[in-house]
Amino acid sequence: MKSKNTAFIYTEDFLQYSFHEQHPFNQLRLLLTKELLESEQALTAEDIVLPKSYSEDLLLTIHAKEYIDIVKRASAEHPVSFESFGIGTTDTPSFPEMYDASFRTVTGSVTAAELVMSTQVNHALNIAGGLHHGFPDRASGFCIFNDIAIAIQYIREHYQAKVLYIDIDAHHGDGVQHCFYDDPNVCTVSIHETGRYLYPGTGKTGERGVKEGFGFAFNFPIDAFTEDDSFLETFSSIEEIAAYFKPDVIVSQHGADAHYLDPLTHLHCSLATFEEVPKRIHKLAHQYCQGKWVALGGGGYDIWRVVPRAWSQLWQIMNNRENFRGEISKKWLHKWQKQAPVPLPTTWEDQLEEYKPIPRHDEIVETNQRMTEQVMKFITNHKNE
Ligand SMILES: [Zn+2]
Repeated sequence: MKSKNTAFIYTEDFLQYSFHEQHPFNQLRLLLTKELLESEQALTAEDIVLPKSYSEDLLLTIHAKEYIDIVKRASAEHPVSFESFGIGTTDTPSFPEMYDASFRTVTGSVTAAELVMSTQVNHALNIAGGLHHGFPDRASGFCIFNDIAIAIQYIREHYQAKVLYIDIDAHHGDGVQHCFYDDPNVCTVSIHETGRYLYPGTGKTGERGVKEGFGFAFNFPIDAFTEDDSFLETFSSIEEIAAYFKPDVIVSQHGADAHYLDPLTHLHCSLATFEEVPKRIHKLAHQYCQGKWVALGGGGYDIWRVVPRAWSQLWQIMNNRENFRGEISKKWLHKWQKQAPVPLPTTWEDQLEEYKPIPRHDEIVETNQRMTEQVMKFITNHKNE
């Protein structure tokens, strides 16, 4: 399983995707991750690829012209609100670089897709991407343009490849699911905290696609306070889905907000989940797709203690290396501890600070198993036909 080099799509301009100082979506986490990898000597200049430039028509493959124009206006007229387009809300306020910054994120993910599909690299990672809540005609949940849907559409139009989309963000991947809900060539799979108490509320087990696309959307809404064991047990079903769908390429979204320290969700996973999931996806990419794998970022709101470690571990796996263990680079800690509002973790493994044992553990495991059974019944029945 020796891979060709893996591309790390990056430009410091990605950091311009910035709502305001107090906003929970903070792309400083990109720089934190990049510098953590560099100080561990795991990322070099040769690994880094700048996003290529694309025509603005790229946006039209998913988004409505009217909405694109509104995003341009919001950039020029900031502060401004276009509520029917989801812009200027508390979640997704306007900011001056809104259009350019969002378009750049899109070009990053399409660059990753192009490098992988043209077999210049086996795997490519764009941690700036993964904005799965963007809809064709509106912004939602911190997401303006849906870079994932655009990258998948790019793969469909230019390579006619079958795409398996795997979304491990704690929130449902609603925007991506919506864009391919009737498409049998794009199978979307989302594992997320149940929408009972969490945005966006969708992603129920019964959402399975429509028309030709029926049977090509899978949703695993897990219980609040789910821990590593049950998250990973649920994730195992994706192996069965891959066997049923037989993808040509995997596009994955690596939101790191299922971690117990994340301030916006109620899942209770540790870094162990973010070490294990990439290994399983990596294996599937080689098993079904000759290694073709496009990995993207996503949510993750503990930008100091969680996201840099989670995404660095992802990068290690994409490069066929072992996970980092033991102490974190002193150089990185020294530089960033001065700015961090919390004590930074000194080891790659969680020290289980603030980790509370969940008394309902067994009940949650069983609830998730029953839910999974219900989702997978579809494939079981399909096989028996
Ligand atoms: Zn999320």
